[in-house]
Amino acid sequence: MNYGWQKEPLLPLSPRMSYGQMRMILYQVAPDLHVASARLPGKLDGIYCLATNTVLIDRRITYTRKRCALVHELVHWRHGDDTSNGCNGGKLEQRCRRETAILLIDPAEYALAERMYDSNPYQIAAELNVTVQVIEDYKNWLHDSVAA
Ligand SMILES: [Zn+2]
Repeated sequence: MNYGWQKEPLLPLSPRMSYGQMRMILYQVAPDLHVASARLPGKLDGIYCLATNTVLIDRRITYTRKRCALVHELVHWRHGDDTSNGCNGGKLEQRCRRETAILLIDPAEYALAERMYDSNPYQIAAELNVTVQVIEDYKNWLHDSVAA
């Protein structure tokens, strides 16, 4: 597996893992990290609180969104970014979104889906079980890495 930007595999996650499988694996590899569901205010899907080492995922969103929110907050956790007041944009957030997309998308499956659905981001997102946002982030990353 190509981890791209990662010096070493940060997280033993693979793109096809369900939300439940991710939660199970975290119990083993990160026993000090607390992951729970909650009713989060506003449009927040997830937060990471550095002080209590806790990831909270909104309980009302779909499993697809939960999966993406969990990986997103895990990337913040690995970098030590506190998002307990929500993500606030900027460079850290861009990095997190890029890394989240790379963790959630298998390059071969993405290439296949892109051909199959004629680059329609909604259909590709449904096929790969991620949000459209993750697809857009992945596309931007692909574009940047070709340009670099
Ligand atoms: Zn974030």
